[in-house]
Amino acid sequence: MSFPNPTTSVKLVLLGEAAVGKSSLVLRFVSNEFQENKEPTIGAAFLTQKCTIGSKVIKYEIWDTAGQERFASLAPMYYRNAQAAIVVYDITKPASFIKARHWVKELHEQASKDITIALVGNKYDLVKNDSGEEDDSENSLRKVSIEEGQNLADEEGILFFETSAKDGFNVNEVFIGIGNHIPESNNNSNN
Ligand code: GDP
Repeated sequence: MSFPNPTTSVKLVLLGEAAVGKSSLVLRFVSNEFQENKEPTIGAAFLTQKCTIGSKVIKYEIWDTAGQERFASLAPMYYRNAQAAIVVYDITKPASFIKARHWVKELHEQASKDITIALVGNKYDLVKNDSGEEDDSENSLRKVSIEEGQNLADEEGILFFETSAKDGFNVNEVFIGIGNHIPESNNNSNN
């Protein structure tokens, strides 16, 4: 007789400047789709998605803040009780990286002490050339280097990925990386 693996529920919030691709990353992870000129989400979107990592099953309860994080006083409502956060910036938009740094620091000051945070530089597809390699010419759209992202993540002791919601590059890896990092004490067994 075999028993199903216990499911760990994980509340996960997305934070980051408008239009960096938060909803698109969720859409890619949950339904493996991409919408080119996505209408912005109004209000907060809530989605769940199970993810099997080795012998663990994680049920992500994903809160996409849909721009409401702009209202500083509302933000703690979203990340209170969150076990995981994805802080997204757009690698072609330096201002979005500055904003991401702000969110990471705020999470460390105000969120749960054992929250798992992933810093995600999205829109990697925009810096690739026709042969799929990174365009390192002066015409490259990249405005935030991998080193800047990695250094911030190292300073803050958090995970770091560059992704493309558009072509799916590294998107599952973000959720798997978070799942691997969630402390065992967060486990519960509601399926
Ligand atoms: P949000 O406001 O952070 O939730 O951003 P959205 O997910 O609504 O995306 C904003 C815009 O960026 C939309 O037009 C998306 O189609 C586009 N977008 C999102 N992710 C990517 C990506 O990885 N690459 C490219 N090229 N465009 C993206």
